Formats: sequence, structure tokens, C-alpha cells
Amino acid sequence: METNNFNIIKQNVTVLQQSLPSGVILVAAAKTRLPDEVNVAINAGIKTIGYNYVQEAEKMHRVITNDVQWHMIGHLQRNKVKKAVTLFDMIETIDSVKLAEIVNRQCALIGKEMPVLIEINSGKESNKTGVLPENVRTLLKQINNLPNLKIQGLMTMGPRFGNPEDARPYFKLTKSLFDQLKKEEMPNVEMHFLSMGMSNSYRIAIEEGANIVRIGTMLFGERIS
Ligand SMILES: *Cc1c(COP(=O)(O)O)cnc(C)c1O
Repeated sequence: METNNFNIIKQNVTVLQQSLPSGVILVAAAKTRLPDEVNVAINAGIKTIGYNYVQEAEKMHRVITNDVQWHMIGHLQRNKVKKAVTLFDMIETIDSVKLAEIVNRQCALIGKEMPVLIEINSGKESNKTGVLPENVRTLLKQINNLPNLKIQGLMTMGPRFGNPEDARPYFKLTKSLFDQLKKEEMPNVEMHFLSMGMSNSYRIAIEEGANIVRIGTMLFGERIS
């Protein structure tokens, strides 16, 4: 697909939004996309955009003037937190005490309360970020007293498969963690958002309980870089 085809992007946004159940938040995963492409998507109705890198989000902030929600969906490096807390409305990828503390501190300095999700390494892949499923409860207990964080749910990538059906067990696992934690009602921990599913797997993720989906390719076309 021609990436620079605005009409196709517009149509993709419309079709996808119509097909999503109400209550599911669509995050347009915008890495590598041109400002014009992202603006077309926003004008077609996208309300939330996701970036993987602070630097790219910063550049795009200058050219995207519409009022949209910005989500950090990539691994957040500690030395980028100071900038990140000024750019983003939600950080979906908290996965350690240290990172949570740094985000909390930088938010305190600018008087912001940051909505965050805990990233789960649901495939227990050694090369992936995210906290292991068995460690999420401990992590939450260590960070739920940080006053400038609003812990609002979980996010997972899951292993990448050709067949999206293969991702289902990882979504199920993350949903069951989500449900358990919700029942436990830990102080200052809300289990409200469950972010899972990308272009090839979002239908399955929604079947398994996702209420945030992060979609790039299906909106903007294949990435060339
Ligand atoms: C790129 C990306 C997506 C979207 O992937 P597509 O396959 O292009 O839909 C979702 N989540 C994260 C964290 C990503 O980096």
C-alpha cells in the first residue's frame, strides 16, 4: 500500500472505528508516520495517538496541534522521563519500581498526576520489556503509594505470531491477571484499562477483554522503515 495515500488512511480510520465495539479506545500507533498522515487520521476521527519514542513524540508535538491524547506505548528510557511526562497523557509501559519512581518524581516537579498502565511480559520472553506475570502484584505493592501516579490498568504486547489466534492465550493470561487484581482492590490501583492487540490481533484481544487497542499498519499501511 502507498503509505502517503491520505484517502486510504481516512477510509481505514472510518471503517475501523465503525467496527470497534463502543467503549474500546483506539490508539493510532503512529511511529514513523509523517505529520500529514497522522493529521489526516486525526481529522478522520482519531482521538488518541501512541508513540514508542520520546524524541519522535516531541517532534510530532510541534506539528500536531489538534487536541488529542498522547500515549507512550514503547519502552521508556529513564533519561527520557523528564521530557516524557510533559508530552504524554498516559504511559502504558511502566515495568519496574525504578521507572515508576522516576516518573513519579518528574511528575511531582511539574505538578502532574500521570495515568499509567503496567506492561506485562505475558509471553515471558527474555528479550522483551514488561514485568513477568508472577511479579506484577509485588510491583504494584511497591509503587501504589507514589502520589503522582494513577495506576489504571495493564498493557501487553504478547509474542508476535503469524496467526493471531496463537496470541489468544497471552491475552487470556493478561485478562485473568487484570480480573484478579481488580478483585483485590489494592489501594490506589484501579483496574480500568486493558491495552492489548495490534493490527493483526486486535479482534482476538477485544474478544478477550481489551478496551484499548493499539493499531498502526491497519490505519497507515505497512511501515517502510
Ligand atoms: C507498532 C506498535 C503497535 C501497532 O502495530 P501494528 O502491527 O502496526 O498495528 C502496537 N503497539 C506497540 C507497542 C507498537 O510498537
